[in-house]
Amino acid sequence: MRIGIYGAGREVGRSAILLESGRSRVLLDYGVKVTEDAPEYPLKFEGLIDGMIVSHAHLDHTGYVPHYFTESETNVFMTPPTHDLSYLLWKDMIKVAKRKEIEPAYNMDAVRLASQYVVRTDYYETTPITSEISYEFYDAGHIPGSALTKLYTKEGTVLYTGDVKVYGTHIQRGADLTGVEADVLIMESTYADKSHPDRKVLEQKFVESVKETLDNGGFVILPVFAVGRAQEIVDILVSHGVENIFFDGMARDATKIILRHPDYITNAKKLKNVMRKVHWIKTQRDRERAIQEPAVLVTTAGMMQGGPVIFYTTALKDDPKSKIIFTGYLVEDTPGRRVLEEGVFEADGYEFKLQMAVERYDFSAHAGRDELFKLVKNVNPQYVVAVHGDEDNTVRLAEDLKEEFGIKTYAPKLGERVDITL
Ligand SMILES: [Zn+2]
Repeated sequence: MRIGIYGAGREVGRSAILLESGRSRVLLDYGVKVTEDAPEYPLKFEGLIDGMIVSHAHLDHTGYVPHYFTESETNVFMTPPTHDLSYLLWKDMIKVAKRKEIEPAYNMDAVRLASQYVVRTDYYETTPITSEISYEFYDAGHIPGSALTKLYTKEGTVLYTGDVKVYGTHIQRGADLTGVEADVLIMESTYADKSHPDRKVLEQKFVESVKETLDNGGFVILPVFAVGRAQEIVDILVSHGVENIFFDGMARDATKIILRHPDYITNAKKLKNVMRKVHWIKTQRDRERAIQEPAVLVTTAGMMQGGPVIFYTTALKDDPKSKIIFTGYLVEDTPGRRVLEEGVFEADGYEFKLQMAVERYDFSAHAGRDELFKLVKNVNPQYVVAVHGDEDNTVRLAEDLKEEFGIKTYAPKLGERVDITL
């Protein structure tokens, strides 16, 4: 079989991996990398494909899917929550492009067409893509609806992780690693260089920082990813008795969708109750009201590249009592990364130095190093292809796994192809 890297070789940010086996060609994810300017798209590949697997509803895995439908058509396989959430993200991609006055990669016709071709598949339902390849989803533990994909080919089995989290979090069970054995493992390596801190200790520190800021009369801005992180952070805050939480941006629609798929999270009833305790922002007037009294502002976008977080940050930029707290991964070349590293925020063509404090807590939805090794042990592959990480991480992970397990490993670059004979 041949594994071609059209995005997310040694980088985080735009997954697109072409698996070719026999006469079948299946695309694993089709994402975009969101930056301050125009998004970065995957490399072009020649010819048609027999189907597309979408591992989960983050833009770097699903954001480019409708583009394929501007020229062609194919079946797209994903879980029901991933479908509903992807639709929301696709619509938003068009909206953001219009706001930034850049050419969108596709229009609503393509979004609707792509959606018609979606084959909604739950976990553990083996489904054919062609006469030669079928697949089965397992819970990846990353965000609601995220899937590990096991592909059955005539040559052998392949496990594609997409993004994976092995240990459980506030709203997600960890990845399901029973039955994931495969000959070839295509795995993410975002956090291949370190294990995450103990989550309980981290939560405690995070909540203390939030409470302290409120007690001092400041505001806490929490830029969050709409899908998964937003809900988890609110759950953590409410569980620790934090009050006066405002909830804004695309996270609102994402939450409604997630609650429509209760089987894909640990405790939907609890999340529903938690979400009732926060103030849902609906209008610009609500936003202005939210910044009158010390409050927690949970809002998109997670890397500050758009959404109401721009309004809140601009309004509070000169307030040294207030804080911005990041809880997720910040890709290079995003406004959030610059805020964290330099304390400078740029949006809509202007930039300013922030007087607010900036902190980051590592609430990752990605597997840390120890979890990645556990995953490999369970999958027990003959070959590992490390993808979706910063360059150093991916190369080092491939080297370390080779040493630890005595297996063949690869860390292909963008545009490279790996031939594997089983
Ligand atoms: Zn993800």
